[in-house]
Amino acid sequence: MSNALSTLETTEAGTLKIVSVPCLNDNFAYLVRDEASGNVALIDAPEAGAVEGALHALGWTLTHIFITHHHGDHVDGVPALRAPGVEVIGSAQDMGRLPPLSQTVTPGESVHWGEIEIRVIDTPGHTVGHVVYYMPGPGVLFSGDTLFAMGCGRLFEGTAQQMWGGLSALMDLPDETLVFFGHEYTATNADFALTVDGDNALLHERVNAVIDTLENGGRTTPTTIGLEKATNPFLRAVSPDVARSIGLADADPEIVFAEVRRRKDAA
Ligand code: ZN
Ligand code: FE
Repeated sequence: MSNALSTLETTEAGTLKIVSVPCLNDNFAYLVRDEASGNVALIDAPEAGAVEGALHALGWTLTHIFITHHHGDHVDGVPALRAPGVEVIGSAQDMGRLPPLSQTVTPGESVHWGEIEIRVIDTPGHTVGHVVYYMPGPGVLFSGDTLFAMGCGRLFEGTAQQMWGGLSALMDLPDETLVFFGHEYTATNADFALTVDGDNALLHERVNAVIDTLENGGRTTPTTIGLEKATNPFLRAVSPDVARSIGLADADPEIVFAEVRRRKDAA
């Protein structure tokens, strides 16, 4: 086995093989092969080199690139990766600032990728045009910079209210949904989570497991919706414990979320 192949971690879900590809400092791109159709999708393109190396090691040929949002660390690899025949897909509402798209999607719609249904979910907040891609069949979500392990994206363009709306939609997905996120921010997210949800025994357990994983050179992707609902301090805005710990007992989750986000930004 080549070195390149041994650094690739693969998850299987239904007919999909999903490979996390570390890019730049702390980004993850994901290569997804559907064994039924032979299609190979890339979810976000932080850079071309690492993705090309992974494709080569796997012996896969890229057919589609799905983009979650316009930031450079998610699109800069597109020009070099878009060989003839590679479809580039992104949200119609952000067309003007994404690389040229060969197919646009509209939040709320479902598209088909081979036999796989992909639901495009609107998650404004980190950017106003941010979308995430959910595949209900295999139970897989690509959450870009909206939902991280124990974290969520910074509010560069949207409001806390918008971000909470998107996160709430993700909380409605089945608990077992595998969540593949855009950045390995988990260690710092864990430190912060303990400051607002320190009485959560499950959180302590998870933090210890994460420290172990990272110390052994592992990755913390993917997570699950259920695990995030139990330990992510932003999703835990619905918990009276978190509300109380930040002095907002009885406040609406949206208000609690906004305050947790403000504290994380100031941390
Ligand atoms: Zn971003
Ligand atoms: Fe990013």
